[in-house]
Amino acid sequence: MKLETIAIHAGNPADTSSNAAIQPITLSTTFEREPNNNGEYVYSRIGNPNRKSLENLLSKLEGGVDACAFASGNAAGMAVFQALAPGSHVIVPDDMYHGLRNAIKEVFGSSLSLTFVDMSRLSDIEQAITKDTKLIWVESPSNPLLKISDIESIAVMGKKHNIHTVCDNTFATPVFQRPLQLGADIVMHSTTKYLGGHSDVSGGALISDKKDLLWQRIRKIQEFSGAVPSPFDCYLIVRGIKTLPYRMQGHADNAEKLAAFLVQHPNVEKVFYPGLSRHPGHETARKQMLRFSGMLSFLVNGGAEKALAVSQNVKIFTNATSLGGVESLIEQRASVEGPDTKTPHNLIRVSVGLENIDDLIQDIGQALNRTYR
Ligand SMILES: *Cc1c(COP(=O)(O)O)cnc(C)c1O
Repeated sequence: MKLETIAIHAGNPADTSSNAAIQPITLSTTFEREPNNNGEYVYSRIGNPNRKSLENLLSKLEGGVDACAFASGNAAGMAVFQALAPGSHVIVPDDMYHGLRNAIKEVFGSSLSLTFVDMSRLSDIEQAITKDTKLIWVESPSNPLLKISDIESIAVMGKKHNIHTVCDNTFATPVFQRPLQLGADIVMHSTTKYLGGHSDVSGGALISDKKDLLWQRIRKIQEFSGAVPSPFDCYLIVRGIKTLPYRMQGHADNAEKLAAFLVQHPNVEKVFYPGLSRHPGHETARKQMLRFSGMLSFLVNGGAEKALAVSQNVKIFTNATSLGGVESLIEQRASVEGPDTKTPHNLIRVSVGLENIDDLIQDIGQALNRTYR
């Protein structure tokens, strides 16, 4: 089956008890035992029909063999780090989702050793590898600088040294990038973003192409600690994914046009979008992505106050964090990331939504004009 068909059918098993065309939400926390005591479900933290459908769907979308759904992207990411033996060395990107970076530093800073590197430079990664390295964490495109890492080459390097490669695929989605096919061992998502797609449900996921020891530990951590999405959350994410392939084409169309508009604007200093031929990761992005997705960021002339003013002068965009919903969002990123941020203070991050692109360009144009008049 092709992606559009998987997105609609893989998470929607027919309900044989009612003939409902859409899978019902099963709220029960417990399941009656069968005479031989081994029914499919026992207790909802361990598994339930809605989570099973979501995990099956996620696994097929990414071309994996198994998936674990979590209550948030961070819970998914943390499960990978929890699964590592204490003392393990991990290579982490210098530009990555700040919430997960802070979580890793605060929670695992004393039990794991962490090296932050520029993941767009293969030689820097290779140099960081030690005999204790167990994991390379990749995020491509990265947040918020849209850096591109060569996933295939990193995975080859990892395999050579017996190191797992995990790729946060939240920005690209399986519609545009398939890290398992490029050689990564595990894919991570914040399903809060494009997969849910409507800014109304939190979730996260890990997808693996094998059930090796690390994966078995991750499954145990999911089942024991219970940072799992509710049946209703699972239902909403399955529902959102049905339109994912079509939504992503619209996000990419709009982002390409907005990037082209911003590049020629006199008050825009620089645009970070991997679809632009002048982006340093453009060639790698073309190799590993079908399209360049719907996230971009740009630097405006001046400092934080100009970036804040542009974010406040828009009318259609919502000045809010997060991404991947049908509505366009804009934010001056550094203030969201907090005092230890390395993000330039004049950087604006945009999640380009599915409104008409002429309206979006008009809106951001008038906000820039008002800010600099
Ligand atoms: C949002 C996000 C996360 C964290 O996901 P939550 O669902 O907010 O916990 C991780 N990685 C990326 C790239 C994100 O955008």
